[in-house]
This record gives sequence, structure tokens and C-alpha cells, in this order.
Amino acid sequence: MIQKRIAVFPGSFDPITNAHVDIILRAVSLFDEIHITLALNSSKTPLLSIETRQTMLEEIFKGNRSIRVASYTGLTVNYCKEIGASYILRGLRNAADFDFENAIAQNNRQLEPTIETILLPASPGFGHISSTIVRDILKHQGSIKHLVPKEVLNYM
Ligand code: ADP
Repeated sequence: MIQKRIAVFPGSFDPITNAHVDIILRAVSLFDEIHITLALNSSKTPLLSIETRQTMLEEIFKGNRSIRVASYTGLTVNYCKEIGASYILRGLRNAADFDFENAIAQNNRQLEPTIETILLPASPGFGHISSTIVRDILKHQGSIKHLVPKEVLNYM
């Protein structure tokens, strides 16, 4: 039997941005399934509750049968093994992201050599977007409609 290519895309998605959506949709052709997973053990204090973020993700990707939404606690590699995923998907904006993601990828590979990390660079015009910037603009009553999917606007 051919093994399904399953990728986990872990993140905070607080909130999900157009750049996250771009990475996910580009990865659809690379994997049989993509599991967008909210990491519950993040050290960041979130703006949006886990339930709200999960609902938003489900709404955005409800038409796409190869995309699932879930949440997990503990190590990402352990979650991957639990669901039979062999790949961790992450995105890159710049050199700072690369340094961070490269270190995580090497540690994950040491923890679990059977799981590969796949890093996709931002598409042109998306590299300046981050959830942090979206939250900052929102805090000062600016418009975020050019940065996030329309489903997100109903919750912010
Ligand atoms: P985390 O809190 O784990 O960093 P995020 O939700 O902030 O989670 O990001 C999830 C992933 O998406 C990370 O790999 C991050 O580098 C990537 N990402 C975020 N914004 C962009 C962007 N504008 N372009 C490409 N990748 C991005």
C-alpha cells in the first residue's frame, strides 16, 4: 500500500493571515493531506481563544478535503507520529525566520529522524505579513482587511 504523504503545519495562527493561506494552498499539491494544527503549548499569550482560531481555520478551508484542522499539546514530532505524518510544513519570511526554523528543524530531526521539515518561502508580496503586525494594527484601530482572509474579519 502506498503511504499517504501527510504534513502537519503547526502554528499559533493568532490570527491566520493571507500569507499563511498562501503557504497552505501552495502545499496542497505537495501532500495528500495537510493538518493545520494549533499548538496549545505555545509560550505566547494569544489574542484569540483556541476555539475561535480553530473555528476560523475550519471556515476558511471547509471546501478543501485534503486540509484538516486540529490542535495538540506536546512535541510536534510526537503529534506527527500519532497521526502518521512524515512532514512538518513551515513558512519563511526572511533570514530571521530561517535561523529560527533551521534550528527547530534540526532539533526535530534529532528527536525523530523519520520526519522531514519542508520550508516554503513567502510568495512575492506576502513576506511583510505577520500575525503580530495584524494584532498591532488592530490595537490602534487600523484596517487589516488587506492582510487576513475575510472570514477572520467577522471575529476581530
Ligand atoms: P508560530 O507561533 O509557531 O511562529 P505562526 O502562526 O506565527 O506560528 O506562523 C506559522 C508559520 O507560518 C511559521 O513557520 C511562520 O514562519 C510562517 N509564516 C508566518 N507569516 C508568514 C509569511 N508572511 N510568509 C511566510 N511564512 C509565514
